[in-house]
Amino acid sequence: MIEVKDKHIVVIGAARSGVAIAKLLHRKGADVFVTDNKGIANPIKQQFSELGISFEEKGHTQKAEQADFAVLSPGVPTKVPLVQTYLKAGKDIFSELEVASWFNSGPIIAVTGSNGKTTVTSWLDHTWKKAGRDHITGGNIGNAFSDVVASSTPEKDTLLEVSSFQLDHIASFHPQVSMILNITPDHLDRYDGSFEKYAAAKFRIFENQATDDWIIYHYDDPVIREKVQSFQKKKSTPRPLAFSSTEEVPEGAFVRDQTIILKLNQKEEQLMPISEVQLNGTHNLNNGLATALAARASEIKNDVIRESLRTFEGVEHRLEHVRTVDGVKYINDSKATNINAVWYALDSFNMPMALILGGRGKGNDYTQLADQIREKVHTIIAIGEARPIIEEQLKSLVPHFKTAKTMNEAVRMGKKSTKRGEIVMLSPACASFDMFDDYEHRGNEFKRIVNGL
Ligand code: ADP
Repeated sequence: MIEVKDKHIVVIGAARSGVAIAKLLHRKGADVFVTDNKGIANPIKQQFSELGISFEEKGHTQKAEQADFAVLSPGVPTKVPLVQTYLKAGKDIFSELEVASWFNSGPIIAVTGSNGKTTVTSWLDHTWKKAGRDHITGGNIGNAFSDVVASSTPEKDTLLEVSSFQLDHIASFHPQVSMILNITPDHLDRYDGSFEKYAAAKFRIFENQATDDWIIYHYDDPVIREKVQSFQKKKSTPRPLAFSSTEEVPEGAFVRDQTIILKLNQKEEQLMPISEVQLNGTHNLNNGLATALAARASEIKNDVIRESLRTFEGVEHRLEHVRTVDGVKYINDSKATNINAVWYALDSFNMPMALILGGRGKGNDYTQLADQIREKVHTIIAIGEARPIIEEQLKSLVPHFKTAKTMNEAVRMGKKSTKRGEIVMLSPACASFDMFDDYEHRGNEFKRIVNGL
């Protein structure tokens, strides 16, 4: 931790986390200057002016280069010239997560991974509520960490969703429980196209952990398993707890005879039948196992964990059941912005379906979905900029391939091509920015149209 009072600190990027950390640092007596190379929204500028926080927009002046250190909003890549200027001058660049953690006083449970972070963080929040345990919840999930850290106390647990961009610039960030769900290619544009660099960023979540801390990790993910096993060869490492839906683990959570087993201190306990877990899909079973382990590491009882697994209904835009119309289920999975998420979406259902795919592509290899598509999808409806590449890679796999210009057209095509007992699912594998403001806008549009059918 660095004393911030009277320090000259530049915050780079005035999106949600940048704004939150600027306000926090200002309250702590720092001399804060916010800089953004794009325009800053009017209400934010007004807040800054009222608080007396100075800022600039649509470019960086020399003033932006002169701080003692800079704080980076997660949306700003490390390679931008201003960040490089700091690094070349030997000055520190910290992420919003790192700086917010200086003001946190309770134990931190931090969740990272390529997919499932928001789901698991919300599931933890649900569990902590069921347990009646005081906590704060933040990260990518509606609230920035800096927005909620002011109410942290040593008695409250801090539940955090943590992205790799935030981990890129930590120094002292120290979770008592770290959770790593999976690592599959995503955002590689921010890591020079290198999967190794992206994975290394995620593994930084362990960097400051001590021997009485916990690592909760996915045993079925070969990259993670190898990394944690290489750790364990060293003497003083945090205590590992594994979760797996496919095999028994040395210590942690797994499934035997359709029952969830917790194995802690080499003692087995039967938690509950998997059929009682409310959320569908193997990925959500894994998310639930991870949540259960984090709860146990935090001394929450099995009764509460059972209740949490039975009642957690998931998060909006993640395999969300919108409505059933004429016997056809409409599923909104707008947050599926990469191939792996779509793979799990398809894996979660055993009914024939029409799949709405597409948007702004990220160099996806859609053929990784081929087996699931052949088995379950009779109609693909491609939308957005990725239409030609989806057509090239998937058209031959399905009886019906269609393209749509709008979400409205896509949903109506879905309705026409399905019958009772089937599904229309939006699980796009792509970013949304070619047609929508963000994935929430895309999902809300889908839901509005479905609700009007
Ligand atoms: P994140 O916050 O990491 O982006 P979300 O919880 O928002 O993750 O889910 C993103 C997408 O990934 C959704 O389509 C969701 O259904 C899917 N998903 C959720 N958990 C997992 C998991 N453990 N593995 C793979 N996909 C998942």
